[in-house]
Amino acid sequence: MPTLDTTALPPESLLSETLRDDFPILQQTIHDNKRLVFLDSAASSQRPRQVIQRVQDLYERDYANVHRGIHVLSERSTDAYELARQKVQHFLGAKQDHEIVFTAGTTASINAVARSWGDANLSAGDQILLTPMEHHSNLVPWFQLADRTGALIRHIPLTDDGRLDLDRLEEVLGERTKIVAVTQISNTLGTINPIEEITQRAHAAGAVVLVDAAQSAPHLAIDVQKLGVDFLALSGHKMCGPTGVGVLYGREELLDAMPPFQGGGSMINQVRLDGFTPTGLPAKFEAGTPPIAQAVGLGAAIDYLTAIGLDKIARHEHALVQYAYEKLQGIEGLTILGPSPEHRAGVVSFVLTEPHAHDIAQLLDLDGIAVRAGHHCTQPLHTLLGIAASTRASFYLYNRPAEVDALADSLGQVAALFRPSGRKRRRKEAKS
Ligand code: PLP
Repeated sequence: MPTLDTTALPPESLLSETLRDDFPILQQTIHDNKRLVFLDSAASSQRPRQVIQRVQDLYERDYANVHRGIHVLSERSTDAYELARQKVQHFLGAKQDHEIVFTAGTTASINAVARSWGDANLSAGDQILLTPMEHHSNLVPWFQLADRTGALIRHIPLTDDGRLDLDRLEEVLGERTKIVAVTQISNTLGTINPIEEITQRAHAAGAVVLVDAAQSAPHLAIDVQKLGVDFLALSGHKMCGPTGVGVLYGREELLDAMPPFQGGGSMINQVRLDGFTPTGLPAKFEAGTPPIAQAVGLGAAIDYLTAIGLDKIARHEHALVQYAYEKLQGIEGLTILGPSPEHRAGVVSFVLTEPHAHDIAQLLDLDGIAVRAGHHCTQPLHTLLGIAASTRASFYLYNRPAEVDALADSLGQVAALFRPSGRKRRRKEAKS
């Protein structure tokens, strides 16, 4: 029998029960009538009707290419696209709307900074400061930059419980540090990093700071001016928006000084037979036809999230994580990765003595529960933890305490099945 923590009480729902009805995809059953329990939002969230409808409305009524046509549809489409930029500006607390550049996602935004700002500002011997908990998207572009320039990679050490050890920051932050690139929330450990403190100390050392907000923008209120960050990257698809759109926020002075990272239509002031002059912000960084409907959909997602309130969403998820943490800890052989609930957001990754993470995910799927298994694009972190893979449950505004119960019940059964007594039983059943 699974050994579940029966003392853990489900938190009262902070969000309206009807909110879940906004998400059509969650209303289905799978695998012989099992209710879908979607716990994979850290990989990509689901979208509410309001976002789907906004994108459909644009395509049905107002769509044309932006910034080019002198006709009604192009004007409407351009207005909708630029309004979406202003929504992102207010969502992030940016000073100017032209500090918001639409990209294809977090990966594209970080690559853009590494290419454009990095190539212009780094040389051999300079240092790039990262952390071991970064997603590959916030590692590989910097490794590539280091290869191109001869810069060196350094890491902020971790504490034993999976937080950044800022007591040791001075060991790795020095006058040759040109950029600190750090995630605000770890997609594997769930750790929430103290960005304001990191930014203050990085700036004092003369470095700029890029924040990977892929996992934080969907879940907590961000104010780039208060945080003091220089660059910030996020993805629409993780925050109830469409795929194919993301944001690069950059401080005006930095963006102004950076060369365009892609060439083509829209990003020019003038093109001659032998060259070109780029235009100003933000078009300088938006070469070609941008993700128009996706950006408008992201604007609708921002409207949706802000109407509910990011603080409320963060508190709801925190309550779910606390509950999940208490319940899962009661399962024999299960180890939760990362810090205690007060330092973490809505991600709970874990390992069982047996079976392998992929088998766990497959068995949970048979119970209708969708989770992630593997290294979650944080292979160096898994190597550091001495494991090849983990299973990750991630929560969002539409999840409910009953889904934590379903996860804990199903996991308890998986764990029991793979304990020695369970194995004997399985062998007996296989023989009969
Ligand atoms: N950074 C973090 C922390 C992530 O969790 C992810 C996606 O899982 C990314 C970056 C990459 O995001 P995208 O694939 O949308 O570019």
